[in-house]
Amino acid sequence: MDLQTEVLIIGGGATGAGISRDLALRGIPSLLVEKDDFTSGASGRNQGLLHSGARYAVTDPEAARECITENRILRRIAPHCIEDTGGLFVSLPEDGHEYRANFIRACGVAGIDTEPLSAREALSMEPKLSPLMIGAVQVPDGAIDPFTLVVENARDAESRGARFLLHTEVTGLIREGLRISGARVKDRITGEEFTIAASQVINATGAWANEILSLAGLSIGIALSKGSMLITNTRLSERVINRCRPPASGDIIVPNDTVSILGTTSLRAEDLENHAVTPEEVSFLVDELSRMIPAIKGERFTRAYAGVRPLVQTAQAGDDREISRGFALIDHQSRDGLEGLITITGGKLITYRLMAEKTADFICARMGLHVPCLTHLQPLPGAGRGHTFQDRLLRLRHQIPAFRRELLCDCELVPREAVDAILREGKVRELQDILHRTRLAKGTCQGGFCVYRLLGVLNERRKEEGLGGSNRILKGFLEERWKGIRPVLWGTSLKEEELIESIYKGLFNLTPEEAATADGGHP
Ligand SMILES: Cc1cc2nc3c(=O)[nH]c(=O)nc-3n(C[C@H](O)[C@H](O)[C@H](O)COP(=O)(O)OP(=O)(O)OC[C@H]3O[C@@H](n4cnc5c(N)ncnc54)[C@H](O)[C@@H]3O)c2cc1C
Repeated sequence: MDLQTEVLIIGGGATGAGISRDLALRGIPSLLVEKDDFTSGASGRNQGLLHSGARYAVTDPEAARECITENRILRRIAPHCIEDTGGLFVSLPEDGHEYRANFIRACGVAGIDTEPLSAREALSMEPKLSPLMIGAVQVPDGAIDPFTLVVENARDAESRGARFLLHTEVTGLIREGLRISGARVKDRITGEEFTIAASQVINATGAWANEILSLAGLSIGIALSKGSMLITNTRLSERVINRCRPPASGDIIVPNDTVSILGTTSLRAEDLENHAVTPEEVSFLVDELSRMIPAIKGERFTRAYAGVRPLVQTAQAGDDREISRGFALIDHQSRDGLEGLITITGGKLITYRLMAEKTADFICARMGLHVPCLTHLQPLPGAGRGHTFQDRLLRLRHQIPAFRRELLCDCELVPREAVDAILREGKVRELQDILHRTRLAKGTCQGGFCVYRLLGVLNERRKEEGLGGSNRILKGFLEERWKGIRPVLWGTSLKEEELIESIYKGLFNLTPEEAATADGGHP
């Protein structure tokens, strides 16, 4: 099977999915290939902060302005992916008043609204904050759900004619003289190899940008920075809590539905596929962030995970935190004399739409078309839908008849209906495809109680064979789960894990040796 398209997009993160929607809204045909599922890269491995831009106001004013503009646009076009929590920048005694004064001034210049608060006012809003705090500043930060955001961009694009090939990896670029005219790809599930011919190829692979460029003998200057995060069992604050100091590691707490996400670290990444969270990173995050919320020391953590940021190196920076969070759109014709290939990388989750707009503008100019961008005006299809825990509870009560109200995930209120609807679409090829499209296994038990129920559903609908069989699905899931839980196993987390382990051993009648093989070595 060899395919043809006008524009080939490589990478199914927020940027690739955003480009696909932007082009579809302008009537330009495209085909996106992603080696895993949507959100398998940084787009599914970030802190979920809807930046107001305040974090960058002092050190990177351009990134700050981009963030606040996109923050406002996303609230309009994707309100169902956003929780409008607001945010506080908290000053501890060692942070002093000087940075806070600069910060308020720089936010003003970038167009970010601020409201200075006394320590007493901030404590009355967020009682878990440290009583040692000397003051805070309120900003329009929020929380964003990257999974819904990316999948909805893709669904909307598809409904307008865009095509996707998931679990399909680009293994080579087709070169005709000084022109890239397509790519060689491999279906990672069936092993089938084929080519895709295209007039324009967009490299939207984020941290993998240089791996794609190396297929054409090119490279660009990007630093790969691994960031690790921890998820707590409860929601620690109503608002996003940031430290009021120059951006550093371990200074943000983002409320996410019923939990909070603590982050991040910043270490040079060596391996793009396996990024383990180290015990040192866990201790650092707990110690550093408990200075803002002391209760963190006694929290139960449900998971640790990490992602890799591609930071575009435009100037000499001593530390990765000093490299701009801005993005780069690189035309390899003008830079390297190679036609038909562009790279878009760097940036933030919340600037994905702007990155897509600039890329689509470039493609239009290349094609001699004058079609305006619509993504800042056209809401995503689910824009009217509520998304909070309460909304899900109400939907469950009122929209699903009682006799069909079977819950698969109690922590996140995922009804069987939601999974059935995804299976009906007929596109699921891996267990992760279901987990990326629902909140299943994202709650406090991390799939401990719901994944075997999901297996039951797959079995009833005779779907598990297509996904490699129940044992493979379960083993793959438990191995992934174990990677996330191992770094945070102490105290009550350890107790919960022992309970889950005994449930699995009992359910599947496993001996200790079989259990060790089934969960990737966990005794
Ligand atoms: C630790 C951390 C915390 C962050 N926190 C935030 C935050 O709170 N707020 C915010 O706005 N931003 C945040 N970011 C930044 C944000 O996550 C990224 O900027 C954004 O997700 C990048 O999206 P992308 O689509 O460009 O890249 P990715 O999401 O990485 O997508 C690239 C895709 O390309 C695919 N791919 C790679 N090679 C191939 C190939 N050969 N063939 C086919 N497909 C391929 C990959 O599988 C991947 O899915 C954070 C990033 C990190 C790492």
